[in-house]
Amino acid sequence: MYKADSHVHSNFSGDSVERLENIAERAIELGMDEITITDHLDLDYADGIKIFELDVPKYIETLKKLKETYRDRIKIKIGVELGLQPQLVRKYDGIFNCEDIDFIIGSFHCIKGMNVAGRKFFEKYSKDEAHRMYFEEILETIKLFPRINVCGHLDFINRYGKAFHNDYREINFELHKEIIDQIFIKLIKKNIGIELNTSGLRYGLKDFHPCRRNLERYKELGGKIITMGSDAHKASDIMKDFDKAREELKEIGFEKFCTFEKRKVEYRDL
Ligand SMILES: [Zn+2]
Ligand SMILES: [Zn+2]
Repeated sequence: MYKADSHVHSNFSGDSVERLENIAERAIELGMDEITITDHLDLDYADGIKIFELDVPKYIETLKKLKETYRDRIKIKIGVELGLQPQLVRKYDGIFNCEDIDFIIGSFHCIKGMNVAGRKFFEKYSKDEAHRMYFEEILETIKLFPRINVCGHLDFINRYGKAFHNDYREINFELHKEIIDQIFIKLIKKNIGIELNTSGLRYGLKDFHPCRRNLERYKELGGKIITMGSDAHKASDIMKDFDKAREELKEIGFEKFCTFEKRKVEYRDL
């Protein structure tokens, strides 16, 4: 069984203090075949927050050294999690053209300049409106970034809005099913995958991101590219709940999951 975690943050991300060495050591301890570090880069995070402005040259240089140091013990890959918004369309060209990067996750943390985890977003809109806007914005924005490898933690908006909606964890998928279908159809057509992000369970949800309903729909529509990521911000969360994730994917009918090297997809048995 191939062991790989394709979504892990280190202290290069403004929201993690974990050292890269701890991550590598933990991955070895877990008997992993490979690990992809995917620190945040967001050049227009809401409210003028600058902590996600990754120092890309330093990041690449440091990860290349780490890769070399651990070469005989574990395969370390260089990834990045990009915060996507339409106005950033040309800002990430350097990342897309960088040959050292193995894997690019495109994520939607901010919608129309608002952080979806913040109060402002849900204060302003009803729950259904907020969810609709989130999915619509994803559909419009992924068209502008055809070179991402996977769409990150789709439907993770169900973590937020607690202060305003008692049922904040429930997305009315019936209401948004057409737009979600369009997102999947667009991704499949462009050869962009999705990730199964296990962090939902750590947030107290009963599901991963995307939730089972959406994983099933992705499969039904012909989706094949799916990576597995813990979204760990500390070494102890690496590969968290991966056994459950594998089982779920198998139950849905997937036979393979994916990893990426130099932006090329690799299929691994589940
Ligand atoms: Zn994210
Ligand atoms: Zn992340």
